[in-house]
Amino acid sequence: MRFYLPIVLFLTSILLSCNSSKQSQSATPIAPTKTEVVILHLNDVYEIGPVENGSLGGMARVATLTETLERENAHVISVLSGDFLNPSVIGSVKINKKKIAGEQMVDLMNRVGVDYVTFGNHEFDLDQEDLVKRIDESDFEWISSNTFHKTEKWIVPFEKDHDNQQTYIQPYKIHFIPRPNAKPLRIGIIGVCLPFNQQSYVAYHDVYEAARITYDYIKDKTDFVVAITHLLIEEDRILAEKVPGVPLIMGGHEHENNFERIGPVAIAKADANAKSAYIHTLVYDHETEKLTINSRLQALDSTIVLDAETQQVVEAWEAKAYEGFKSLGFSLNKKVAFLKTELDGREVNLRTRQTNMGEAVAHAIFNAKPGLDLGIVNSGSIRFDDVLEGQVTEFDIVRAMPYGGPVVIATMKGSLLGQVLDTGLGINKGSGGYLQLYNVEVDGRAFKINGKPLDASATYKVGLPDFVMKGLENNLGFLNPDNPDVLNIERPTGNTDPRRDVRFLLIDYLKNL
Ligand SMILES: [Zn+2]
Repeated sequence: MRFYLPIVLFLTSILLSCNSSKQSQSATPIAPTKTEVVILHLNDVYEIGPVENGSLGGMARVATLTETLERENAHVISVLSGDFLNPSVIGSVKINKKKIAGEQMVDLMNRVGVDYVTFGNHEFDLDQEDLVKRIDESDFEWISSNTFHKTEKWIVPFEKDHDNQQTYIQPYKIHFIPRPNAKPLRIGIIGVCLPFNQQSYVAYHDVYEAARITYDYIKDKTDFVVAITHLLIEEDRILAEKVPGVPLIMGGHEHENNFERIGPVAIAKADANAKSAYIHTLVYDHETEKLTINSRLQALDSTIVLDAETQQVVEAWEAKAYEGFKSLGFSLNKKVAFLKTELDGREVNLRTRQTNMGEAVAHAIFNAKPGLDLGIVNSGSIRFDDVLEGQVTEFDIVRAMPYGGPVVIATMKGSLLGQVLDTGLGINKGSGGYLQLYNVEVDGRAFKINGKPLDASATYKVGLPDFVMKGLENNLGFLNPDNPDVLNIERPTGNTDPRRDVRFLLIDYLKNL
């Protein structure tokens, strides 16, 4: 893996495609000494429709904004810095037994004219087959300097088979902007993604090393290099220090807008779900070889109208999704409850402490069968990074927990349960493997269940997601059906058992509040 990247760079330099348009031969215009480029920068867009009661975001607003920018500027590039294929309400629907899995987003991104993306960790939530399909469907180009396709034998760049053309996802892109009677402006773009929730079919090269090697490789072939990244802000700061020659990092992963400077490097992130976008105006002076960058945050609120044609496509996908959920037993328009207290499902809280939303889901799981000792849910299964408040519909439940999935009842030894709780609240703090609990009192690393200290030699009946019981959660691989301290696992029975999907349990729980 360590020696692999230079080979990729060598190969891709052969494949390197130039998108410079034909230069005008007829007149003899003088090349302007400065070239201005506008970059529309989005990150973490999960829903194709507008959010917050239609007031913010939505791909139809992105379409209008893109069109406006293109009308007002000669050169516009549109980028999305990762996390768009998953999770979403629509993406989790099955049509003909096949999950939509981001197809709706690729369709909309193609329509609004996104140019470049890099992977976010959530792209790798998809299974290999689905991700390959989404890549093939995309009109836009993928750039990844540090993630590769791990096949049985080889580590290779991800392939793309689009319009009968087979290409590889490149570790960089050189975007050419033509100038009359002069050399084109050459913008280098690199892209990196954090190795979060790692998948077996993905090889992750070190973020900083990959960025540095790729930057070094293209810096003399370009006028300047920018980065699209999907990293924690702390990692973006380190990247800025390690590769200070990249003056603009267009980031993602965090869902709140942020702008800061580390020395000569600007790091920008917009709000998730296209609630806002960054608009970077780059002016390159070909004589002095100086680049100036102006970045402004643009809200995608009611001042930007929904592009009617795009919105029609969005609504067609929504209609499909509603039908799909209907076949699963959900009626997305159905009212569930009116909440007097908001339930906190914000990731920053959910992954570091018990929240009332986490407790509500754990309580709903605890209610799955009389006689349970406790309910457990992994905070990563609550995924909307938002609060539930006021009138809640089944759509909100599905949006809050897009993965759903069965709940099982496991009978296990107290010694194992203690290890699960200790790991889930200890080293899993800060990740989706942090556990939310019901009927457990926590005092440091000591636990009380049913008011009594956890007894290592006793047995407990635990309600928990099948996902966790299968050993698929971070650091909790030891909790699996083969563990000898797991004495019994009771699975949901049939198509009417609410335990077949945790969301039915949550709906029942909220209804009975
Ligand atoms: Zn992310």
